[in-house]
This record gives sequence, C-alpha cells and structure tokens, in this order.
Amino acid sequence: MAGRKPTGSMERFAEKCKPIASGCIEWTGGTTNNGYGLFSVPGRTTRGRMMTAHRWLFEQAYGKQPASIDVCHTCDNRLCVNIAHLFAGTRKQNMEDAKRKGRLGGPRKSKGEAERRFAELMNWWAARSTKVIKSKTSRKEIP
Ligand SMILES: [Zn+2]
Repeated sequence: MAGRKPTGSMERFAEKCKPIASGCIEWTGGTTNNGYGLFSVPGRTTRGRMMTAHRWLFEQAYGKQPASIDVCHTCDNRLCVNIAHLFAGTRKQNMEDAKRKGRLGGPRKSKGEAERRFAELMNWWAARSTKVIKSKTSRKEIP
C-alpha cells in the first residue's frame, strides 16, 4: 500500500457490500452492462477511474493483476465480492475452470493469505457495520 491510506476506498467499498445467505457478498452499488459491480477508485487524476468491484477487491488481496488476467467467480454470481469466491485466470483458463470448478489460486500469493487479509478487512468493516454482519451471517467472532 506504499504510503497510501487504503481505508478511504475500503470504507466506501464496504458500504456497498451486502452478505447474502448463499455465502456470497453482493455488491449493491453501480454495475457494468455485463452485470458486474462497478467501483470508482480514486486515482492520480482527480476523476479517478472505474473498476469492476470484484477485481478491485481481488487486487487489494493479491496485488495488481495484469490486464490479460480475468478475475472470475467460482460462484457464478457476478455481483459477488467475496474474496473466497474469486480467482484469477486467463480467458482461456476461465473457460476451462468453468468446466471444472474448484481450481483456485492467485498467481502470487496463497489463497490462505488472501483470505486472511480479507478477514482483516471484514473485521474492520464489521466494527462499523456490526448490525449488517450479525443479521446476515451466523455467529462469527466480531471484535
Ligand atoms: Zn460468491
């Protein structure tokens, strides 16, 4: 995160997340024409830029991904931003992975590490929106 404060973006992101019964965390903000969540990221320009929400989150956990890499869903829910349901692959791999689900993993860091980081983010968020979490998920340790 080299010198930047991630909390501003994460806070805005978390405000648009809604856990649902299936275990997915759905994006409630704007969407692309394709039905993916859309998140505006503050960038070097004052306008910032738009990214798909699931990709933005994935990159928070795994680091920046090359443009040739797609961030895809194991759950086939395009609105889902649950990091545990996301994986990176090339377009070709995606087609194959669609056939044999369950192949997971980011190119740089282990899935376990991403999940741990995501858990930290969610804990951070939970401290601010405990009610949402409690009503949507079964008992979890919320500090
Ligand atoms: Zn999902």
